[in-house]
Amino acid sequence: MIDYLDKAARLIRESGYTVAFTGAGISVESGIPPFRGRSGLWSRYDPKVLDLDYFYSNPHDSWVKIKEIFYDFFGKAQPNPGHIALAGLEQKGWLKSLITQNIDNLHQEAGSQTVWEFHGNSQWVVCPRCGARHFATEIDMSELPPRCHEDGSVLKPDFIFFGEGIPREAYDQSFAAARKAEVMLVIGTTGEVMPASMVPYEAARSGATIIEINPETTPFTNQITHIFLEGKAGEVLPELLARVRQLPVD
Ligand code: NAD
Repeated sequence: MIDYLDKAARLIRESGYTVAFTGAGISVESGIPPFRGRSGLWSRYDPKVLDLDYFYSNPHDSWVKIKEIFYDFFGKAQPNPGHIALAGLEQKGWLKSLITQNIDNLHQEAGSQTVWEFHGNSQWVVCPRCGARHFATEIDMSELPPRCHEDGSVLKPDFIFFGEGIPREAYDQSFAAARKAEVMLVIGTTGEVMPASMVPYEAARSGATIIEINPETTPFTNQITHIFLEGKAGEVLPELLARVRQLPVD
């Protein structure tokens, strides 16, 4: 691990364009469980609450669960040392952009500037009819489902539900960054969610070196990963940043 960390640090320092791709795993140490696995959200909730058709036909039931998961619970989470280390890499110019599948806003709260949100952001709530967007904290959730002040429609969290398309700009910018990347950090993602999981494959196809950080191997590990840093993002990333910093200026 020690040697691999040094190797990864050197690759990042020598790279002209490094991009990070993150998944639910990076927020686990902030207290947000992933979807899958033994302690994942889907062991406690039925994923159908995030199915677009179910949501529109059962808005009350969906919103009760959505409020519990994404607003009562996510709302209290704070960025952890993994998010902060990524923001530190960007600040020094060693990371050009960050593509996240997460919807928890923790990268921005940690100070990351160029963040492409592949699946939207739970901070915003949108009216599907008139397009009005509101901060979730400004919405009255004492009566569910919350409704648009303008036209009375049921409001929807502005993140991607099952059955919805990826926001155009985030999609285009993510794949453009993957094609430009000389190094891609793939952090805390199983790569099971399409089309997001295609982003690291696109980077690898375009010649990027893939550095993966995860306590467990994933489908990426044996297919495209060049350096696997086994461990928690909140421990590995600060150590990686420290080593990149220590390298002599060339
Ligand atoms: P996933 O739930 O499929 O997998 C999580 C991955 O994180 C696993 O590979 C696991 O080994 C790894 N992991 C666990 N603890 C870790 C740690 N401390 N450090 C690094 N890695 C760790 O996650 P996914 O691939 O991102 O797919 C889930 C989908 O659900 C995504 O689309 C995401 O948008 C969404 N989601 C988001 C959040 C969030 O916003 N925080 C939370 C749950 C799910």
